[in-house]
Amino acid sequence: MSMIIIPIQIFTIMVASWVAAGLINYLADVLPVSRKLVRPSCKNCSLSLNLIYYIAWPIKCSNCGKKVDFRHWIVRFGFMLLVLFIWLYSSSIALHFIPAFFVLMYFMLVSVIDYEHRIIMHPTSVLGAVLGVLVGFNLHGFTSTVTGGIVGFFGMLILYLFGSVFVSWLTRRRQKEMGEEALGFGDVILGGVLGLFIGMPGTIISLMLAIFSAGAVSIIYLLVALLKRENSSNLTIPYGPFLIFGAFTILFLKNNLLLVMGW
Ligand SMILES: [Zn+2]
Repeated sequence: MSMIIIPIQIFTIMVASWVAAGLINYLADVLPVSRKLVRPSCKNCSLSLNLIYYIAWPIKCSNCGKKVDFRHWIVRFGFMLLVLFIWLYSSSIALHFIPAFFVLMYFMLVSVIDYEHRIIMHPTSVLGAVLGVLVGFNLHGFTSTVTGGIVGFFGMLILYLFGSVFVSWLTRRRQKEMGEEALGFGDVILGGVLGLFIGMPGTIISLMLAIFSAGAVSIIYLLVALLKRENSSNLTIPYGPFLIFGAFTILFLKNNLLLVMGW
């Protein structure tokens, strides 16, 4: 590539990432609260804000001066770094850059909403399923995509049923209400959706990565809570980001990891 084209490409990628991250922030702000695409508004004084400014350059509310959530900046810079990564390593990633860009948007949106609200929303899952079928068919064909979806769904369903039995056992033992379910049914649907993206046998590895990473983080959480002498029964962690982590690893990091391990 010539000396002029590379800076132009990087600039275009940065601008596209900035706008895409703005859109992720907008959707993460309005979807879980209003369940439809309403105009964004200030969380402090509820003044409605101009969508274009909100996506392009939101710093603070013009009425009350409240600054945007810190999450906005994490999403913006985190998304840019991820996009730069897939651009730099595109030769080792099976997925082409443009579809990969949209997959990253979906992954980030689901992770942010699950982290903040502990839900996997149906509209994002429908969007994900469409994207997953398109990506899956192109990457590994019909059979692998469909079986990946089925294995992902039923793998998570087993965990979900196991989790609800465990929670009801705990509830009876402690004779009190447990606040939250260990896993939501949204996680089961997400497992199926991500299975479409990854196909087989990747879905099995991706599920294992999710289960082990979530387990490791839960144990750290529990240990910290024990050390601080907090009540550890309310500490449920969102499962979505771990499922996304597993899928991300298989889709974007697998070949690099295999190279590092010398396979
Ligand atoms: Zn305001």
